[in-house]
Amino acid sequence: MEMAQGEVTYTVDAEDFVISFNAEWTRFAEDNESPDLADIGQLSDRSIIEFVESYSCKTLYTMLLARVRTTQETVSIPFRCDAPHERRFMKMVLSPLTDGSVVFKTTLLKAEARDFINLLSIDREKSEGMIVVCSWCNKVEVDHDNGQWREVEEAIKILGLMNDAQQPPVTHGCCSACYQSISAKINFKKAYPQKSTE
Ligand SMILES: [Zn+2]
Repeated sequence: MEMAQGEVTYTVDAEDFVISFNAEWTRFAEDNESPDLADIGQLSDRSIIEFVESYSCKTLYTMLLARVRTTQETVSIPFRCDAPHERRFMKMVLSPLTDGSVVFKTTLLKAEARDFINLLSIDREKSEGMIVVCSWCNKVEVDHDNGQWREVEEAIKILGLMNDAQQPPVTHGCCSACYQSISAKINFKKAYPQKSTE
């Protein structure tokens, strides 16, 4: 996935609909061949939850938004948004506004160059099957039955994709480690809520 270098900022209203975003969002959408996301007219009747691909991630987003609104407290979540040629360590900050809107801000913390990974390239030729990548840490699921996830370089070797010109399409999910760490963050904060301003 291509990622803009600046801060991507967007705001959702109390019903989770995107109401505004900055120029970096537009650049991000265009880089990822999703020009419809760069147009506020296309976005105004869509919930942010719609953009999240897997059920488990939808649940986490819903829980995060609920927590931020209930506690009126900002939450910061580390995540990865790798490109074919680099690992990108990012941070997502969700800040509540008193009217129920939430401002999302994603920042690139650091990037590390690596050998080109064809699997992460959006315009490559696709084969049969499906690869699941964790939306938060970008690890790849290598064993669904046993819940095993690995860094993409290792996963490609384990899955035998190293020499294939065509590799399976990528879908997004949430690995158990990320699910647990983000849920724990939400639940810990829930146990010590700050006074709501509403
Ligand atoms: Zn993960």
